[in-house]
Amino acid sequence: MRLSVENVYQKYGDFDVLNDISFSSGSGEVVALLGPNGSGKSTLIKTICQLLPPSSGQVTVNGESLSDIDPTERAKLIGYVPQSFNYASFTTVLDTVLIGRRPYVQWSYSDEDLDMASKALETMNIINLRDKFINELSGGQRQRVFIARALTQDPHFYLLDEPTSSLDLRHQLRTMKIMRKLVRSEGCGMIIATHDLNLVLRYADRVVVLKDNRVYAFGRPEDVLTPTTVHEVYGVESSIVKSEQGLFILPYDSSDEPFDA
Ligand code: ADP
Ligand code: MG
Repeated sequence: MRLSVENVYQKYGDFDVLNDISFSSGSGEVVALLGPNGSGKSTLIKTICQLLPPSSGQVTVNGESLSDIDPTERAKLIGYVPQSFNYASFTTVLDTVLIGRRPYVQWSYSDEDLDMASKALETMNIINLRDKFINELSGGQRQRVFIARALTQDPHFYLLDEPTSSLDLRHQLRTMKIMRKLVRSEGCGMIIATHDLNLVLRYADRVVVLKDNRVYAFGRPEDVLTPTTVHEVYGVESSIVKSEQGLFILPYDSSDEPFDA
């Protein structure tokens, strides 16, 4: 399966937030979405999953426009994990994760649905939290609940908006490893917005870099993530370090200016 973003534009009122965005993502591939704060990553992810239909252009799966697919079928194709959650908190972890099964449910949740939810809770290492209320959790635990919900949804494409931003080191690495393994073994696709260049170098197959509302670069992480790109996109210096574990980027700030953004 291939998800293609084709000449997509997006606006908030008169503000052109995305201009002519095109790239595609195939089965078995992790695509990272990079760019500074406000560059449009979250907007692009919402546009891809049709929460915000594009103002022009289209998003297709195997050539069929997602806007022509009804929401229930779309939910089987695409699982979305938002960046932040203004979520009614009087639900338990298990109930929240079970919502992922909604596109498949006939009358009520089956044993298979419960099984899938439990498995996802185990995968995300939160099975011990299953009966807690969402508002009783830490930010990182809550983030893992919403990843578990997407796993329970079992979609063809995962759209993850900064899914590891609140996670501790072990859970960051674990989550990326689990997601990449899933993408490889199930042949699904994944688009993940992040600021963690080192997770991108280690786990992504392709990277899309947004700058000034456009695609600044698209390619393999080791080709795209050079000190020049990092400087032009984020305005910081960086060194690339080779180690036994692969390439790493060390960003640093060499300017004397207090803050110029
Ligand atoms: P990123 O996720 O890369 O930080 P966003 O997609 O959240 O960027 O935002 C891109 C731009 O669009 C920013 O300038 C932001 O202020 C603006 N923006 C985001 N959401 C809205 C909205 N609902 N209404 C108006 N402007 C918005
Ligand atoms: Mg964002």
